[in-house]
Amino acid sequence: MKGLIKGFIDLIYPPSCLVCGHSSQELVCPDCLRKLPFINSCFCKKCGKPTLHSVFNCQACKGKRVYFSLCRSLGKYEEPLKGLIHQFKYSHRKNLAFFFASFVTEHFDNLISPVDLITFIPMLSPKERERGYNQAELLGREIANLARKPIEPTLYFKRKIKEQNTLKLEERKNNVKDAFSIKLRFGLDLKGKTVLLVDDVYTTGSTVIEASKVLKKAGVKEVRVITLARVP
Ligand SMILES: [Zn+2]
Ligand SMILES: [Zn+2]
Repeated sequence: MKGLIKGFIDLIYPPSCLVCGHSSQELVCPDCLRKLPFINSCFCKKCGKPTLHSVFNCQACKGKRVYFSLCRSLGKYEEPLKGLIHQFKYSHRKNLAFFFASFVTEHFDNLISPVDLITFIPMLSPKERERGYNQAELLGREIANLARKPIEPTLYFKRKIKEQNTLKLEERKNNVKDAFSIKLRFGLDLKGKTVLLVDDVYTTGSTVIEASKVLKKAGVKEVRVITLARVP
């Protein structure tokens, strides 16, 4: 029955690529898939920033306390990845969570396998709550499913903050400073654990750095971070 309904829907709305709009059985057609700006070769081993040559500490993280042990992003925040993330966040394209998660688990298998627990950046603002879903949580849940790891909400905003992407780069750090708190379900202990923190886009890193700080304070041994994209 499900197959019949899908067949009927496909007849009226033939499935098409979310990037180029051409007919495609996959969310993204093979041509557009090849154009995704994956970060494969040279990057900072600490924060994942794409660099000309691989380095252990790039200019952006030299002398900066980041609290996570390492951060990796699937690709650069450029088209067509940028547009796909936009659709994922703002156009209710929730099925992109699985699409992205399958790339993340494939690319970062070594990073994910020692992790005890997966968690995610919570919803930032009432505006996001209106949207009805947290894209970082959806992504985290699909990664957890594929990697067979437990996932738990751990971070909450203890005060109101503005959406990071509405702010200038230098304002972002203050916006999230001391904004997180930890709330755990009964029986969950973070002490000594290696935690994977998931977010959608790494811009200045302020959000994941602040969140990592709070997780470390709660006893987490190591925070590893994965984001879908990285503003180069
Ligand atoms: Zn396409
Ligand atoms: Zn770096």
